[in-house]
Amino acid sequence: MGLLDKFESARAIREQLSVGGHDPTAVVMEQILSPTEGIVEGRNTILAGTNNYLGLTFDPACVAAARNAIESQGTGTTGSRMANGSFSAHAALEQELADFFKVGHGMVFSTGYAANLGTLVALLNPGDAVLLDADAHASLYDGCQMSGADIFRFRHNDVESLEKRLQRLGERAQDCLIVTEGLYSVMGDCAPLVEIAALKEKYGALLLVDEAHSLGVYGDNGCGVAEAQGVMDQVDFFVGTFSKSLGAMGGFCVSRHPELDLLRYLSRPFIFTASSSPSIIASTHEALKQVKGRPELRETLWRNADRLYQGFNELGFETGPEVSPVVAVKLGAKEAALPFWNQLLEKGVYTNLMVPPASPDQHSYIRCSVSAAHSREQVEQIIEAFGSLKHLLQADG
Ligand code: PMP
Repeated sequence: MGLLDKFESARAIREQLSVGGHDPTAVVMEQILSPTEGIVEGRNTILAGTNNYLGLTFDPACVAAARNAIESQGTGTTGSRMANGSFSAHAALEQELADFFKVGHGMVFSTGYAANLGTLVALLNPGDAVLLDADAHASLYDGCQMSGADIFRFRHNDVESLEKRLQRLGERAQDCLIVTEGLYSVMGDCAPLVEIAALKEKYGALLLVDEAHSLGVYGDNGCGVAEAQGVMDQVDFFVGTFSKSLGAMGGFCVSRHPELDLLRYLSRPFIFTASSSPSIIASTHEALKQVKGRPELRETLWRNADRLYQGFNELGFETGPEVSPVVAVKLGAKEAALPFWNQLLEKGVYTNLMVPPASPDQHSYIRCSVSAAHSREQVEQIIEAFGSLKHLLQADG
């Protein structure tokens, strides 16, 4: 097979995805009007699939911080953290994140993906054992894979399955790493971190929690699911991203282990890429301040999440197991899901479509992410749009 022949399968995927009209992976936001509104195909569209949980992308203080940073420090760092790309703002943000999680040590990376890759490849070596939730994000899986460690996947959020694997590891369990997320972004379900942390203690393992979707959303201070479940002290490494509730781009790892400060010498995804632009670091710093100082954003977010979840259930849609700012609706076969997603878009509601093999089981899902910036009317319009298309699913059963 020639190098280019394999693209035939990608062409087939693209064609399949386009049968309902538009390819859901190729939507272009022609204009962004606000955190929750844009123009897509010339139409005013409610953005209901953006991970913009707190709606901070247009927050005046975040925008001003970014603008000031560009004016005072320039548009980019033009280099990596280990060379010319460490500005005082990067170091300050590392400390702020560490303080926020009440641990001593922090590192920032250029993306959330790089944070996961960079942390895992430095932590794990070939021959180490890592226990990874079966539905963990690709960046967690890729980091484990790249490290060369032995990967043992446990059933999603299944504590029994995790313990079985720990038992099978025997003495190796003492040095293994358990990797999980706080809030899972496909179905909007939370990890049972209390039970996972108890197992980690019982077997002497280390625990890494990715709070990408839960930072700013869960916990009294917005630290995430570990805070909400009262187990922050048992987490060895927190990773997360700036690209969701913080409204920018970048990632971090924080830890109570002082070894984190040495991780930067071993982490190729940290060493061999340019550091985040000053504007990104500045708006993230401001957004983190807002997470701490504006709990009312979380309250509005949860009010909207409750209403959307309840609205879908009243219409008879099958949703995820618990209310969260990620609200997924199960749609069955891909053939039904594609036209449903397309017609939602035509009705002016942008959502995320997940079809096999990218969805966790053989079903298709439409995922909404709720924002504190959604108005009550927008939430009702989203519910109404779903309701008006329910007939499309009847034929599919
Ligand atoms: N972890 C999780 C759980 C994610 O969902 C994502 C992104 N969707 C990432 C990490 C990567 O973050 P980023 O897109 O900011 O690189």
